[in-house]
Amino acid sequence: MSTLLEVSGVSVTFDGFRAINNLSFQIGPAEMRAIIGPNGAGKTTFMDIVTGKTRPDEGRVLWGEKSQSLTRMSEAKIAQAGIGRKFQRPTVFEDQSVFDNLAMALRKPRGPLAVLWYRPARADAERVHELAAEIGLSDQLSRKSGELSHGQKQWLEIGMLLAQEPRLLLVDEPAAGMTHEEREHTTALLVEAAKTRAVVVVEHDMEFVRRLNCKVTVLHEGAVLAEGSLDHVTANQQVIDVYLGR
Ligand code: ADP
Repeated sequence: MSTLLEVSGVSVTFDGFRAINNLSFQIGPAEMRAIIGPNGAGKTTFMDIVTGKTRPDEGRVLWGEKSQSLTRMSEAKIAQAGIGRKFQRPTVFEDQSVFDNLAMALRKPRGPLAVLWYRPARADAERVHELAAEIGLSDQLSRKSGELSHGQKQWLEIGMLLAQEPRLLLVDEPAAGMTHEEREHTTALLVEAAKTRAVVVVEHDMEFVRRLNCKVTVLHEGAVLAEGSLDHVTANQQVIDVYLGR
């Protein structure tokens, strides 16, 4: 299988503390992966490295068919290269409609100022409807985003990221604070998204991870402790010890 992102031998030290320790990780172009691990394992730092927010002290982060190095690229350039990140809290333009949020996300550059120069174009409208169908918000297009439920806001933000057509989507705890039904919808949405791009989900909720039905990477002390199916990794004695704090 070809590799979309290859992280190899990466280490990061904060004030003498090794948060990421010789970490290696690979993901293919249309692969779903869950990353789990106890608090402090290095999950957030890992995503910060991939998105260029944190620079590794050692190691390589290579992207795409041409194995382009990401370690010196700016966060903006990395985003443009096709890596999207969704943080835990949804950041949508609350005063704008669902339609306008999606339409704005189609326009680059993205950011708080996008609202000032945004003018909808006809071609955008078609794509907005496609995106809305993908995230299950077709019947909410004219609603103000601020009026959406927590789950709907999360889907809208995923839709806004998909509008940018990332080849890799990093998603931080998508199921947090969701109802049972919302979780199911989120699972379906992410599984669908992973058919045409790589999706990495950091998640604490094991039931949610089970539903994703994908390979799982367990991080501990900044390195990969185990990798494989959820059943495989949760049967690993070292993983059990780490989760029980032994
Ligand atoms: P996780 O997301 O798995 O909970 P993090 O990546 O947030 O773990 O953190 C890994 C370790 O690195 C933790 O011990 C954390 O305290 C430490 N750490 C993360 N960011 C910084 C920072 N900017 N300065 C100092 N220590 C940090």
